[in-house]
Amino acid sequence: MRLAELMSLRQRIGAGALVTLTERCPLGCAHCSTAATRHGRDLDRVRLLDLIATFTPDCRPDVLLLTGGEPLLRADLVAETAEAARAHGTRTAVLSGGYFAVRGGPLPAPVRRAARAVDHFSLSLDAFHERQVPRDDVYGALDALLATGVAVSLHVLGNGPEDPYPDEVRAQVLRRFGTDVPLLVSQVRPVGRGTGLRPRPVLPPGPDPWAAAPCDMAAWPVVTVDGTVTACCNQDVADRRVRPAHLTLGDLGTTTWGAVRERTAARPLLRMIRTVGPVHIATRAGAAADGYCATCHRLGDVEPARRWADRAGAGAAGELLQAAAVRAGEAGGPAALVARHGAARHADLVAPDHHRDRALPPGREHTP
Ligand code: SF4
Repeated sequence: MRLAELMSLRQRIGAGALVTLTERCPLGCAHCSTAATRHGRDLDRVRLLDLIATFTPDCRPDVLLLTGGEPLLRADLVAETAEAARAHGTRTAVLSGGYFAVRGGPLPAPVRRAARAVDHFSLSLDAFHERQVPRDDVYGALDALLATGVAVSLHVLGNGPEDPYPDEVRAQVLRRFGTDVPLLVSQVRPVGRGTGLRPRPVLPPGPDPWAAAPCDMAAWPVVTVDGTVTACCNQDVADRRVRPAHLTLGDLGTTTWGAVRERTAARPLLRMIRTVGPVHIATRAGAAADGYCATCHRLGDVEPARRWADRAGAGAAGELLQAAAVRAGEAGGPAALVARHGAARHADLVAPDHHRDRALPPGREHTP
């Protein structure tokens, strides 16, 4: 599964799910968005496999994206999850910081088994990771992964849109790997330990609070490390620092994929967050909007907002509005999605063998 295909599913509702296998990571990078350390919780293995057992041919995600912390600290579970998911027709991707690549050498056996089980393997590369895992070791790991036959990519971070780091990596990767290694370039964000690098701004609500500003990030459910399933990958929600009821979809111990899928797709307030965005909803309800996601976090407690969303987002009309918003979001493909979320200059690298024939959209100020 190439990176472009994975990203082309990213806005389709319920087409994928993000799964946090562990909070632990041995690297401790200064910018880590989850502030992972060597200590932390692991997702319950049995409850995850029980959820996968509820996938059916007609109701399953197309892809599970396994993250952490460092998911390859549980390489056996990565392989087991991928094999269980594949039995239902679901593919699996994994995003790793590449701790196993330090000092080169062959892939450790559990990592090789995991690589053979998954459909896509992405490694992180940025100036902060390089202090832990040298760039040449990451390239060596890519060689070893490509030899297993798995599709690979690099998740590269720049420190601001003008940072030359992604350009340097792009040139090296094209020279060494041709188009075999697509790049997903994004920006260091002031979340997790990244808040220590620069102050965390309150994301602006946008210049016109009446303008529709749909949220791209509420398409795939997120299985958090404590087993809660949430509606979006906003880090505060995924790390459970805030727990808005309208963004909570269930719990691994008591829910099925069918129930998660239904709540994801059919909850009127979620539909309208995807269609017009939280700031527009709050404005219609006469409530204050003081930030994009911050406004969203409070929406469930704003009775007029809930009432308006129940009217606008319910039934067939709500379904049609949501479908139109998804179609609009998918226009331009994966590169347009990457461009909207902060790396317009490098968005094409998500699909290096595709030719782009239209201008990419500018970034959104309210990127969650
Ligand atoms: S607006 Fe922010 S908090 Fe709300 S669903 Fe989107 S990403 Fe999540």
